[in-house]
Amino acid sequence: MSPNPNAVAYTDPLTGLGNRRRLMDKIRKLASERADDPAPFTIGIANIDGFKPINDLFGHAAGDEILCQVAHRLRACLPDGGFVARIESDEFAFILPLVFEKKGAEKIGRMFKDVLSAPYDLGDRNVRLSASFGFAVYPFAGEQFAELLKSADTALYRSKRRGRGQITVYSEEIAEEMRRGTQIEQALRRAIIADEVAVHFQPIVDLADGSIEGFEALARWTDKELGFVSPGLFIPLAEERGFIDSLTETLLKKAAETAKHWPPELFLSFNLSSAQLIDPATAFNMLAIINRVGLDPRRLELEITETAMMTDPEVAAKVVNELHSVGIRVSLDDFGTGQSSLGRLRDFTINKVKIDRSFISEITIDKSAEHIVRAILMMCEGLNLKVIAEGIETEEQAAKLRELGCKSGQGWHYGKAVDATATFALIEAEELARASATRSSLLIR
Ligand code: C2E
Ligand code: CA
Ligand code: CA
Repeated sequence: MSPNPNAVAYTDPLTGLGNRRRLMDKIRKLASERADDPAPFTIGIANIDGFKPINDLFGHAAGDEILCQVAHRLRACLPDGGFVARIESDEFAFILPLVFEKKGAEKIGRMFKDVLSAPYDLGDRNVRLSASFGFAVYPFAGEQFAELLKSADTALYRSKRRGRGQITVYSEEIAEEMRRGTQIEQALRRAIIADEVAVHFQPIVDLADGSIEGFEALARWTDKELGFVSPGLFIPLAEERGFIDSLTETLLKKAAETAKHWPPELFLSFNLSSAQLIDPATAFNMLAIINRVGLDPRRLELEITETAMMTDPEVAAKVVNELHSVGIRVSLDDFGTGQSSLGRLRDFTINKVKIDRSFISEITIDKSAEHIVRAILMMCEGLNLKVIAEGIETEEQAAKLRELGCKSGQGWHYGKAVDATATFALIEAEELARASATRSSLLIR
């Protein structure tokens, strides 16, 4: 007997679960039933954390086996009247008709999470994994299928952003943040076109004498209506909403145009966003921008974070290697706060490590912070990596860092980020001071 074509169109061939179409039908049906009887229901999405590396590491057959086991477990522990579908390679969606509010959704989420975190038997080995969850409650989070699924997806994205194994239910706060996000997004897109996003520069200095070695470029944006918006807010927003590329392009272009006029021994350090580290075209794009401007690639350093490096380590390693091969250096930003293993430092051709501000701010008051910094410095020396201490605010911190053998630093003690004009003035003042020092030493002789 040939299979029922309808069943095939509604079934995920790998796991035998329903597929996205089936989910859509089910949700539509339930929503229309509940429209008259205004009882809520809940939908959720589960996404396996770090599935791609598992697939790459153990092979596709093992990946498929895990997905089948996940499907089996989810089906086995579904509450009454529940339904589960596979909607993307490593993503499962479910309907919970008898869950009406946040607490209930979180409870089911925790149960699913526990069930999925038990080891997976692959014959010759066991694998452990975690999953992230996003839930949305009808009708608050959406009355139609697409809107409801989007809300669950937004909640899932929040979970992912907080790390692994997190559970989020779409809430009024998230809805409000989304509205505010949209307002900022529109203003920022306009500002990029109108060329209103600026770049400021913070000095990176030699701790021995405070002389400037280079500058880190930091994005600055003040909107007429919104006022000053922190890059800590608008950069992740541009990433999330998919226009970080055009933002980076304007920023790097501006930064490079300024840096080109500095004395050639000064370097420019520029932050690469995490989305760019998983884009194989990044090295080419960055090089194209600075070539157009005419900045020597050997004067450019790109700062990347450990977390970004870990999203897709293979592509990230490729991007880093390509940057290297064209002479661009790479530094590891916010070191000590991410989730990478130290072993990764060997796999990546990194030139520098920037010790996170959280350790520096404690270095004179907390012995364990001092020990951590000492250990990082020792490790970097062994690995032949340069080190920059970030967020130095006092002379005591600078002195402690010098004592520990740290060569370079950055922070308000040496200067905040200032615009291009003020940066030139700073460089000029330093050159003048140096020239007059040389002159007086000549006179003394
Ligand atoms: P980050 O890369 O870690 O940048 C250092 C942050 O610490 C900057 O905040 C800087 O102003 C601040 N800072 C520097 N010295 C001190 C100090 O002594 N004390 C204290 N309390 N803070 C200090 P900012 O400019 O608000 O930037 C926040 C984050 O936004 C940056 O963290 C970076 O992740 C991101 N960002 C900024 N500009 C860009 C950009 O052009 N591209 C990308 N992708 N990200 C950027
Ligand atoms: Ca940085
Ligand atoms: Ca940093």
